[in-house]
Amino acid sequence: MKTESTAEGAASAAAMQPVVQDVITLPRKQAAQGRANIVGLTREQLRAALVDIGTPENQAKMRAAQLWQWLYHWGVRDFAAMTNLSKSYRALLAEHFAIRLPEIVSRQVSADGTRKYLLRIDGGHEVESVYIPEESRGTLCISSQVGCTLTCSFCHTGTQKLVRNLTAAEIVGQVMVARDDLGEWPVPGQPKNETRLISNVVLMGMGEPLYNFENVRDAMKVVMDGEGISLSRRRITLSTSGVVPEIARTAEEIGCLLAVSFHATTDAVRDKLVPINKRWNIKALLGALRDYPRLSNSERITFEYVMLKGVNDSDEDARRLVKLIAGIPAKINLIPFNEWPGAPYERSDWARIEAFADIVYKAGYASPIRTPRGEDIMAACGQLKSATERARKSRAEIAAEAGH
Ligand code: SAH
Ligand code: SF4
Repeated sequence: MKTESTAEGAASAAAMQPVVQDVITLPRKQAAQGRANIVGLTREQLRAALVDIGTPENQAKMRAAQLWQWLYHWGVRDFAAMTNLSKSYRALLAEHFAIRLPEIVSRQVSADGTRKYLLRIDGGHEVESVYIPEESRGTLCISSQVGCTLTCSFCHTGTQKLVRNLTAAEIVGQVMVARDDLGEWPVPGQPKNETRLISNVVLMGMGEPLYNFENVRDAMKVVMDGEGISLSRRRITLSTSGVVPEIARTAEEIGCLLAVSFHATTDAVRDKLVPINKRWNIKALLGALRDYPRLSNSERITFEYVMLKGVNDSDEDARRLVKLIAGIPAKINLIPFNEWPGAPYERSDWARIEAFADIVYKAGYASPIRTPRGEDIMAACGQLKSATERARKSRAEIAAEAGH
């Protein structure tokens, strides 16, 4: 079901060392040409695909459910191992379909246990995902696009020119390869492990998830389904920079929790930090959030707010922020700015961040400060970028976008 024991041994030895680069470097596998990938298909798509290869209509739904269990519950990658299907049916499946996942090109382990995966997907593109272990939970941060079409001036991903949407298979695949690496698939006959290593998934890696809505939705359906990866919708958080027309759909069609990259309290500053603000400004964004279909105290919206020295971190900003969001059940997540080579900003001083947090807290909002994780391996928020991407923006372009 998993990597060979040698890779596992190397992996656990690596976990004990502070910083390890390129622990696992796998040769590029030949893509299974011509056979359709069944990873990431919705139940209905899979059912229809099974009918297409000759599965009787009255059996297709059940066969789709059985395949889901093998794929997403047991982590099986070989049709031959699906023992509750007849031998001839397994052969038929193998003839028409493939089970293809992103490949781990390299894995880095931070001194704090954070793991960053560089994954190769079709077309030779690369994306990153990050596993963040904490005491009571483990969060996997996944990407929705290669790069990002938006150009937030403080974000490393936004400096990468090349962009393509990930398929649903590539989005679900990130969860599956992380489970491989963590050795998290259940073992038949052994007691169920109730504490899951990956207990939460956040769409906070590379890309704007709401610009790839359908694929993100279909992938999350697999992640949330009881016969799929089986994580509750409340354990999934989608972060958007503010694609206003897609916000209501997120509640209706996915049903996960929402985080919004707010980052500024005036349109003049937000235009520079999060340029999508020029299209949908603070007022439009707050309107969509007030109307968010699932809004309640138990399902508050997370406002992400990156702390940039001298740019958006004054007491006045903090007071304006709480006024703006008045009436919206919310939590304010303060993110100390994570630096990257050529970044045109600095992180606010710790005392400043605490003073800001205090004003927000006293106004009645939880205001946790997000501890930067995996900084030594460039795995912290906003530091992701496929290191091998050749097409880059110049420093001058980055500075121009930041308005310097
Ligand atoms: N594109 C989506 C999700 C990915 S970014 C979005 O923008 O919401 C996840 C979070 O990290 C966002 O809040 C983003 O604004 C923040 N971020 C980006 N660059 C950062 C940096 N250098 N330091 C700290 N946070 C950053
Ligand atoms: Fe894209 Fe989000 Fe980075 Fe902005 S912060 S450039 S939307 S990934």
